Parts: sequence; structure tokens; C-alpha cells
Amino acid sequence: MTLIYDKVTVIGMGLIGTSIALSIRRGGLAGQVICSDCSTNVAKAVSRLNITNQFEADPAIATKDADLVIMAVPVGAVGKLAEQIIPHMKSGAVLTDTGSTKISVLRDVSPHLREDIYWLPSHPLAGTEHSGPSAGFESLFDGRYWIVLPLDCEEVVVSKFETFVTGLGSVTERMQADYHDKVLALTSHLPHLIAYTIVGTAVDLETQLKNDVIRFSASGFRDFTRIASSDPVMWRDVFLNNDAAVLEMLQRFSEDLSYLQRAIRWQEGDKLEEIFTRTREIRRSIIDAGQD
Ligand code: NAP
Repeated sequence: MTLIYDKVTVIGMGLIGTSIALSIRRGGLAGQVICSDCSTNVAKAVSRLNITNQFEADPAIATKDADLVIMAVPVGAVGKLAEQIIPHMKSGAVLTDTGSTKISVLRDVSPHLREDIYWLPSHPLAGTEHSGPSAGFESLFDGRYWIVLPLDCEEVVVSKFETFVTGLGSVTERMQADYHDKVLALTSHLPHLIAYTIVGTAVDLETQLKNDVIRFSASGFRDFTRIASSDPVMWRDVFLNNDAAVLEMLQRFSEDLSYLQRAIRWQEGDKLEEIFTRTREIRRSIIDAGQD
């Protein structure tokens, strides 16, 4: 048990917020954990988990006196939330978020910042297709990367936050917002877009064919349906807020897809085999890095 902050406030008790609160309790990382969410159903579900010293629906009240405030809400809601809470934060407190896009979060939070608080955006690279408080679990972040954007924060503040994140089970990595958004566009956002498209195509098939696709779904399609069942609001916000990087990666993807399309049309098996061999190696390196 290592106490890092006296009082931590988590706002947005979905998959990520609840997992953070559970993981803080596991590691004994905070003296007090205050949880906040705009939904009354969520309040009831959170109280059953016994992870919070206090549940407070009003985020401004929840934030008062906290040493660390974590905004774990959809990226489209971060700016408005920052506007609500920042005037009530105590001087010297740290504000972070868990949003999947970073340029938009910087843009939306910056108009509301105060000079006497530390703004340290972050993003845990951990998640599942489930959402809401019942989806949270304490080991969600174990062994997963947690990206931190130090901006112009003092080193001592960044290091303390990284110690906290390490206590949650994660491995920290520092990054700049534009690089983060490019990497995530390819590794997370584009795969979700492809999954949503493939499953959407199945939905549009004529009834008999659609029923058989569902009945005989081999593991490939099943995996896509798992990804495509992810929270619609969260993912709507991700695509609207990382539009430039996603569109850039989509353009490259379309070109590569056309290459494969052509290879199939012209029966160029060597080209297909060469690409599939290269992609298999990527899978091996992900397993070797412990990120499978
Ligand atoms: P989630 O399960 O949908 O939970 C979000 C929670 O925040 C919901 O309970 C929502 O309530 C609440 N909320 C929304 N606006 C709020 C506001 N203004 N004030 C207080 N509460 C508010 O989402 P999540 O998966 O935990 O994701 C949270 C954040 O982490 C997002 O920014 C997402 O991009 C990021 N993230 C997600 C994953 C993932 O795999 N899921 C991974 C890494 C990072 P309502 O449902 O009533 O709106």
C-alpha cells in the first residue's frame, strides 16, 4: 500500500472511471476517493461497489479540496466539464483526463485553465467493449501503457502522477498530443471503424443471408462484432475529435486495400502471401511485448 495523493476525485464512473477507483483501492494509492457522475443510475451502481468515500453528483462539489481530479468522461464532454470544475479546484491540484483523443482535449480544456493548477492530460491504453460502472475491474490497467502528456508541468508533478499510474498497474510513456493522435488513429480508431463497417454491412444484407452470417459466424466475424459492440457515444466522440488523423490513416488503408483487391483480381498469390507473412510477424512482436 503506497499513499500517493490524499484526496482523488474521479468524474465519470463508466468502465474507465470505475476501474481507476477500484485500482486505487487495491493499491491504497489515495486517502480518500470521491466519485462523481451525471447519472443517478450510475450513482446507485457505484454505491454497491463500495469503492468511494463519497458519491457527489455535482462535479464542482466533488472536485473541491482534491489533490488529483480525473475526468473519465467521453471526449466530447471534457471541455464543458473542465469549465464547470476548474474554478472550484484547489490551488496546486493536478487535473488529468483519460480521453482517447488528445489534440481535441487540449483545445477544449485550455480556455478554462488557471495558472495555479497543473494540467496533465493522459490516456490509458486499456479497455474492453463494455461500458458503464458494472464493466469496471481493478486489474484493467495491469501491464498496459498509460500515455502522459507532460506539457509544461514541473518534473516533480509529472513524476508523482507517473508513480500513481504505475500504482494502478500501468507502464507510463510520455508523448506529444499530435503524435499520440496519429498512433492511436492507426492502432485503435481505424480498427474500430473497420469493425463498425463490416458488422454494418452484415446488418444490411437480406434477412436469410444475415441470419446465416450470424448463425455460422466464424471467429473472424465474431471478433469484429465484439469490437463493434463498443460504446456508441464514446466512439462517436473519438471519430469527431480525431478526424484529421483518422482520415489520413483511412486514406492509406484504402490504398493498401486497393492493392490487395488488385492482387486477388489478377491471381497474384505471391503478393498476398508476402503481405500476410509480414502481418503475422507484427502479431508475434505484439505477443513478445506482452500487449496481446
Ligand atoms: P463510459 O463507460 O461510457 O462511461 C462514461 C461515464 O461518464 C458515463 O457514466 C457517463 O454517464 C458519464 N458522463 C458523461 N458526461 C459526464 C459529465 N459531463 N459529468 C459527469 N459524468 C459524465 O466510458 P468509458 O469507456 O469509461 O470512457 C471514458 C473516457 O475514457 C472516454 O474519454 C474514453 O475516450 C476514454 N477511454 C476509453 C477506453 C475504452 O476502451 N472504453 C479506453 C481508454 C480511454 P452517462 O452514461 O449517463 O452519459
